[in-house]
Amino acid sequence: MEHGGEAGIDDLLASSGTTAGSEVLAPSRHEVPAEATRALAEANRALAETQERSRRYAALTRTAIVLLRQGQVVESNPAAARLLGSESPEDLRGARLSDLVYADDAEAVASWLDELGPGQEHPDCLAVRLCKKSGAVVDTELLALALREGGESVVQLLAYDVTDRLAAERAETEMTYMSLHDELTGLPNRLLFVDRVRQALARASRSGDKVALMFCDLDRFTVVNDSLGHAMGDRVLVAAAQRLRSALRPGDTVARFGGDEFVLVCEVSKNPSDVAVVANRLLHVLAQPVELEGKSLSCGASIGVSIALSRLSDPDDLVRDAAAAASQAKARGRGRFEVFDEATRARAVGRMQMEALLRHALENDELLVYYQPLVACAGRRLVGMEALVRWRHPEHGFILPDSFIPVAEDSGLISALGDWVMREAFSQAASWEGVLPEGQAVELSVNLSANQLRDPGLVERVARAIPPGVAPAPGRQVHLAIEVTESTLVKEGSESIAVLEELHDLGLRIVIDDFGTGYSSLAYLKRFPAHSLKIDQSFVAGVDGRADDRAIVGAVVQLAHELGLGVIAEGVERESQLQVLVDMGCDVVQGFLFGRALPAPAMTGLLVAHESPVTLEPVGATHGSIT
Ligand code: C2E
Ligand code: MG
Ligand code: MG
Repeated sequence: MEHGGEAGIDDLLASSGTTAGSEVLAPSRHEVPAEATRALAEANRALAETQERSRRYAALTRTAIVLLRQGQVVESNPAAARLLGSESPEDLRGARLSDLVYADDAEAVASWLDELGPGQEHPDCLAVRLCKKSGAVVDTELLALALREGGESVVQLLAYDVTDRLAAERAETEMTYMSLHDELTGLPNRLLFVDRVRQALARASRSGDKVALMFCDLDRFTVVNDSLGHAMGDRVLVAAAQRLRSALRPGDTVARFGGDEFVLVCEVSKNPSDVAVVANRLLHVLAQPVELEGKSLSCGASIGVSIALSRLSDPDDLVRDAAAAASQAKARGRGRFEVFDEATRARAVGRMQMEALLRHALENDELLVYYQPLVACAGRRLVGMEALVRWRHPEHGFILPDSFIPVAEDSGLISALGDWVMREAFSQAASWEGVLPEGQAVELSVNLSANQLRDPGLVERVARAIPPGVAPAPGRQVHLAIEVTESTLVKEGSESIAVLEELHDLGLRIVIDDFGTGYSSLAYLKRFPAHSLKIDQSFVAGVDGRADDRAIVGAVVQLAHELGLGVIAEGVERESQLQVLVDMGCDVVQGFLFGRALPAPAMTGLLVAHESPVTLEPVGATHGSIT
């Protein structure tokens, strides 16, 4: 390459390695011996060879090389032209460095080059964005070398395209981020959370603070998700995540473990009220309604707290304990927090064992349905029966529902269990439809728990469980009914109205169970398509002795009748109670006085053995059947 007396890129490339040599070989005005002339010729030839190699290297290398004089390109190689989107090195000649560097990086490049003394090179690369001729930006790393040339400052820049490497690094960073964060909310996930708990434990052991874990479970998230759709559910979760984050102090971490479960780790002072302050703050922020698409949704939460007793506490154990305490908070009425203690641990272990046994029971036909008679006060006729599930465990014997229904509800087994009871009872009903004496009609009721009511597939499954033989139709002798407790209706509120209406449309009667325990009013319950209500046994117990119970039951019977509802009294054990109830005008009674729950064949016997209509005589509390 010819440069008209200026230092060309090839010369300078060569000079970067052989600066000293070119000075030694400078021509001299003195006479030189022939030997020296030969040596000089030899050295010049060697220099020419080196320059030729450098030229070829510069032409072939993928490193972009640019030579600048006073901030202007005087030489470049083909790789530089390619990098900067120019047609050729000639095309680049004359370009100003300030035009080649992305505006935001220009100042950094200028001061970086200013630091460079003559003959120096920068020890480190500088990450710089350059601009192609087209205006596109390319990520590079630069190396600079300052050369002295005729007293002018000449700078040689080497530029490496790092686009691919940066993309790979970004992808890796992103993958690391994704592996440690929840995609939906951007909160840390379980993996990162466990690490944060360990850090908190280490810090707290130095500061003397305590580490508390809080497990938040959104109370009504399933309802939102099921009724308004997953997209809406996701938005509720994102809103909850933001609120939790804003309620935290610096250094605390909130993570999402999937579903509607959020877990927090925070450092609290030894003062136990600190935990309550934090937990109440979280409950407060989560109870605030979220405004979405003109709807105001409030989820509320139940919180379980576990406190690390030593820095060696296992984060997974702390999470498990906090989750058990959260279930406890849910069971005790939701919208509250519970702190894990030994009793909670024992309960959690017991529940886990029970859950495993129950799962096994469902698969191995250990469950049975018993039927308790319902008797009309007028004439003491058998007018129905309530299906009550029983569990005959091969070793533990008979287990009553109060000890396993709550476990089934917590574990989600209630759906399978409830379906099974329903199918069993409804097909039993179909067989009774065929054997009932003429003129006699009975009502068979099945209990539904709150979780079942929330299950979006419920109505369809109920419809499928009804055999054609008892599908509601004129002239049917067995009428099917569903019992839902008053507290379930209060808790689930208006969302359950639609479900009950659909069940009602299937031809099922709706009975409000355990009435009096849910703190509602009959006027409120009138919004539900109910057919009758069952007064809870706690009121019936004192109806023949306590004036207040008598007043309450009397008022309920009267009001229910005014609203067109039938009244059933449950837990009737004594003739004296029956007498009071009859006087009050109660329609139907259920209780040990007339019989405990019976196995299906015994109930069939009762239904067919009597002349129509079946009349039951009080049997007293010592009736021989097993409950
Ligand atoms: P519940 O629906 O209120 O059922 C009435 C309970 O009172 C039954 O208890 C029954 O045996 C008992 N009982 C009836 N008469 C008397 C009496 O004169 N004195 C006394 N002390 N008790 C009486 P059980 O069968 O132990 O069931 C308890 C609860 O378990 C039921 O209360 C119901 O809430 C639930 N349950 C039972 N079976 C099922 C089921 O298949 N599905 C669902 N979801 N829950 C069920
Ligand atoms: Mg019931
Ligand atoms: Mg009841």
